[in-house]
Amino acid sequence: MTTNKEAKKKYAKRWREANKERVKENNKIWREKNSRKESQRIWYEANKERVNKNTKRWREVNKDKRKEICSKWREANKERINKNVKERRDKLKLIVFDIYGGAKCNVCGCEDIYKLCVSCVNKEILPKHGRNDIYKWLKHQGYPKGFQIICFDCRRIYNHGTILACRA
Ligand SMILES: [Zn+2]
Repeated sequence: MTTNKEAKKKYAKRWREANKERVKENNKIWREKNSRKESQRIWYEANKERVNKNTKRWREVNKDKRKEICSKWREANKERINKNVKERRDKLKLIVFDIYGGAKCNVCGCEDIYKLCVSCVNKEILPKHGRNDIYKWLKHQGYPKGFQIICFDCRRIYNHGTILACRA
């Protein structure tokens, strides 16, 4: 009795024999495509500066065209972009939490990362940034001191000035 796998193998062999020319042709195409890729990469490495300069020049000359192409691409890839942005943001968020003492509210100890955020300990050093950009801002500033991980509930109290009393 032949197993399914063996039967498949036999069938594939028969097919290859019957379609020899086609197999040959496909192999040739595959080889050409892959060697082209490799030679393209080598060429790019050797001409990197020139290519980058040309790309830059093209972008400057075709500013409007580029804008149009980019916005069309963004429109077509909206979902993918949003997903990537969210993933990158979540990753950075976790890094920031780690640096400022772990994913845990500094006041009540809440560990629900979806409730946690970063808050400055001293309101005077409040950064000038959009609320959504705090993680990016911290990264750009090299993670300065004076920030803490806090949950939304505690931050609300903190913003009303009573949290200092809680902590004392
Ligand atoms: Zn809390």
